[in-house]
Amino acid sequence: MKAIRIHEFGDADVLQYEDVPDPVAGPGEVVIKVEAIGVNPVETYIRAGIHAIRPDLPFTPGSDAAGTVLSIGDGVSTHKPGDRVYAAGSVGENAWVDGYGERLLRRADHFLPLPDNVGFAQGAAIGIPYGTAYRALIQCCGARSGETMLVHGASGAVGTAALQIAAGLGLTTIGTAGSARGLELVAEHGAAHVLDHTQPGYLNAVADITGGDGPDIILEMLANVNLAEDMAIAAPFGRIGIIGSRGAVEINPREAMMKDLSIIAMALPNTPAEAMAEIHAALGRGLTDGSLNPVIGQELPLAEAIEAHHAVMRPGAYGKIVLVP
Ligand code: NAP
Repeated sequence: MKAIRIHEFGDADVLQYEDVPDPVAGPGEVVIKVEAIGVNPVETYIRAGIHAIRPDLPFTPGSDAAGTVLSIGDGVSTHKPGDRVYAAGSVGENAWVDGYGERLLRRADHFLPLPDNVGFAQGAAIGIPYGTAYRALIQCCGARSGETMLVHGASGAVGTAALQIAAGLGLTTIGTAGSARGLELVAEHGAAHVLDHTQPGYLNAVADITGGDGPDIILEMLANVNLAEDMAIAAPFGRIGIIGSRGAVEINPREAMMKDLSIIAMALPNTPAEAMAEIHAALGRGLTDGSLNPVIGQELPLAEAIEAHHAVMRPGAYGKIVLVP
């Protein structure tokens, strides 16, 4: 089969489109024919060798995919050939690599049913983005109906997922983006208020929007830029969920003390198995009833993984970038 291989850590040019042997399902494992692959920022960090996950070389990057079951190993009773599934990187072996290929082998419990009303490209947009949004908003920040949430970086894959999950809970949401079409997308996906994070002073509007209280919850996609300001605008007893950060930031802890703020940082691979099962049960219900509807911004052939890695790091996010084998 064809797959993207990395023989050395480095910039996007290290992604090579090659022939590799087809995977064979061992006991407890499943192989799927991949129809779509989700591209996540984390795969660029792993590719560059700057992430805590540092696979042995050479390796095939990628976590999220969707397709149909081709074969099952001994002892697998949860899946059968032909089933539509999506892959969800979970705790445990081989969950965060091997995604960028025509076939994908995983432990059986790393494949979840893909409802008939959800396309394969959308299926490839679920594992990391929706898993992260649900984990951060519901499990880490304990969102409750009636609260106000700011998604700081709402136009991307995690941000749009968070907006959709929040709509189901009845939160009032404020979403930021940095391009005209990103702002439109954020409004379309349930944000009551949209703010452009490229404009100086854009967070001044948050006080007016929230009647002077500030958001109860802030989901932060770029903490190294925004954390200090998030602490300044958050409501008393507010929770700031740190999802993304690309560097260091200076903060004044006194700001957090004065308002009893909780600053909760999370990384999806740390999610305990029981919590992960709860996440995917909830996501499955939302996908089936249509309240969760992943946004696909761009589809590229698998052979163009280099361009996909450039694109996922460019400003002007619009939902999810997907590779198609
Ligand atoms: P994405 O689709 O590329 O979206 C990136 C988002 O960040 C866009 O909405 C972008 O907005 C926004 N952004 C850019 N500049 C910003 C600023 N100054 N302030 C606030 N937001 C800004 O990426 P993603 O998949 O949604 O992931 C978002 C971040 O979370 C990434 O850093 C990723 O590595 C991280 N992440 C972490 C976990 C975890 O387990 N902790 C899991 C998944 C993702 P514009 O492009 O419109 O400017």
